[in-house]
Amino acid sequence: MSSIASGSTWEELRATALACTKCPLAQGRTQVVFGVGNPLATLLFVGEAPGHQEDLEGEPFVGRSGKLLDRLMFEEIGITRAQCYIANVVKCRPPQNRNPAPAEIDACRPYLEAQISHLDPTVVITLGNFATRLLLDSAEGIRQLRGSVYPYRGGHLVPTYHPAYVLRAGGEAMAEMRADLVRAKRLMKPRS
Ligand code: URA
Ligand code: SF4
Repeated sequence: MSSIASGSTWEELRATALACTKCPLAQGRTQVVFGVGNPLATLLFVGEAPGHQEDLEGEPFVGRSGKLLDRLMFEEIGITRAQCYIANVVKCRPPQNRNPAPAEIDACRPYLEAQISHLDPTVVITLGNFATRLLLDSAEGIRQLRGSVYPYRGGHLVPTYHPAYVLRAGGEAMAEMRADLVRAKRLMKPRS
């Protein structure tokens, strides 16, 4: 599809995404949630899909999950969301926060792929099953996949839990997510 061509600039990509109607999620959304942060960042977080608050504000992870993500990234990596980039697997909110359907993920995937190509991140942290399975091309669950570092496009991929899961599961899952973020921090070498 020429409008998501690899030669397009970040702003062109963003403009294309903001007007996208390639899948049925376009119908129920308030707005497209492209991503937030610094497009020159070397650390990328990938979540699942916008929820209610994200759909209203046009920014990923601004609800309860986002507050936890902000806190853990600050406490374990020492950064704010302005110093990394945060995007989702699908850019529009699924109705009633249902899981994104395979066809919707396929339709939206070129935007995330193009974002990854532009950012060329040193470390990608995938949050939960959807992002992890998509980027690792794996059918395994996050419990099996987390705890390790995977080579990814010349950099590293660190899978961890989705913060919404950690909010539900508490204690041990929180400790594991913290450990995953520390693992990611250690991989973040400044670019020469
Ligand atoms: N959950 C996600 O996966 N992404 C968001 O942007 C918000 C909640
Ligand atoms: Fe387009 Fe992705 Fe939104 Fe579907 S979810 S309409 S593919 S931006």
